[in-house]
Amino acid sequence: MKELLKKLPAVDELLKENKTQQWLDSHPRVLVLEALRTALDRTRKRILAGPPAGSEAGLSAEQILIEAERILFELNEPSLCSVINATGVVVHTNLGRSLLSETAIRRMIEVSGSYSNLEYDIPAGDRGKRYIHVENILRRLTGAEAATAVNNNASAVLLCLNTLARGKEVIVSRGELVEIGGSFRVPEVMERSGAKLREVGTTNKTHLKDYEKSITENTGLLLKVHTSNYKIVGFTKEVSAQELAGLGKKHNIPVMWDLGSGSFLDLASYGVGDEPTVKQAMDAGVDILTFSGDKLLGGPQAGMVLGRTSFLDPIRANPLARALRIDKLTLAALEATLAQYLDMKKAARDIPTLWMLTQPLQEIERKASLLAGGLRALGITGLAATVQDEQSQTGGGALPMGNLPTRVIALAHDRLSANQIESRLRIDKPHVITRIKEGMVLFDPRTLNDGEIGKIVEAVKKILT
Ligand SMILES: *Cc1c(COP(=O)(O)O)cnc(C)c1O
Repeated sequence: MKELLKKLPAVDELLKENKTQQWLDSHPRVLVLEALRTALDRTRKRILAGPPAGSEAGLSAEQILIEAERILFELNEPSLCSVINATGVVVHTNLGRSLLSETAIRRMIEVSGSYSNLEYDIPAGDRGKRYIHVENILRRLTGAEAATAVNNNASAVLLCLNTLARGKEVIVSRGELVEIGGSFRVPEVMERSGAKLREVGTTNKTHLKDYEKSITENTGLLLKVHTSNYKIVGFTKEVSAQELAGLGKKHNIPVMWDLGSGSFLDLASYGVGDEPTVKQAMDAGVDILTFSGDKLLGGPQAGMVLGRTSFLDPIRANPLARALRIDKLTLAALEATLAQYLDMKKAARDIPTLWMLTQPLQEIERKASLLAGGLRALGITGLAATVQDEQSQTGGGALPMGNLPTRVIALAHDRLSANQIESRLRIDKPHVITRIKEGMVLFDPRTLNDGEIGKIVEAVKKILT
């Protein structure tokens, strides 16, 4: 063992090799050094684990360099990378939620490479306000008196609670104390905002009188939270936003609705869910409305705050607003996405999230046949690909009961288990993310385009042959 360890080349020697010198032309020296050290380290560990029976295979400088080259390649790969989403979950929180429209992407590129009027009033030649770039379009689309945008909806909620109810009580129904993925919990956000949670009603039933009974001179806000990712069914009673708005007016207390996944498009008219649109929510008469930019809106990560100017002014003036502000790339993408909604029909086609949700079943069937055909044409023995009826999920804490009929390709192989196929597809490049059901790997074409379908066929070929 000692002999073998002694024979290992030093990093300095490996650095002199021609191959290593070539790497240095196109790779940062720190990464080359790290690759060499890691390769040497692994070799040392292999030696210590016990010599391979009667051979010194893998211990030569040449072998170490082959390993180092592989490591260097991996070190150069970006950490944040593209994946193929074959899960059919449209607003997939772990896979980046919404894809941006081409228009939004173009605008982001334009704004990122040049100076802009981000906070500059061109006609006045003076300092301007960044939220101006989305305020007018948000007002036009929703009828709100005033609007602003921040980093995400969690910040929007935090900022509103902190501005309107710090040191005061916020009345919320027990049926709406939501936890959203990534540990956004209404009671905890409330605590951090400095507001005090006043729970009313029960899990399944909350009446208007429950709110009314709890109102005191210390009540700062009546809050309604969209139960985004669950639904209480059966013997239930929920107070509508309209009723709550009326109660707020009667007692002169602001009413806020955290809509979560605000949609501008009337998805119900496409047979998708039964959520109110942002406009309908605004028309219910609440004073403040908050929702995400990258859920059903289909834009970049952002949080929208709409409402009366008398509330928006202090919200925007809150020092926290500076800490939670939206950046210029997001703003460019958001403005472009919002502008697309001026033509709803076009928006439904051009905003990827909306298209994936509203595409006709025939389109999904077309993509399903394309994928099934491609897989069968590989002629791999033992491989079975069948088209089956399934349900897709909206994701992103929207439409938890969503019935989105789809056709999936179910893949099975007589030697590899579904788990083996799923993990190989996931780890190989391109990373293909699938789900497993009843011993089969499912591909849902709802979230796939034709190019990706071709790549999936190639990926399956690679892992099975
Ligand atoms: C998703 C959601 C949030 C958090 O929004 P982000 O944009 O993820 O910060 C807050 N409230 C509700 C009801 C939600 O659905």
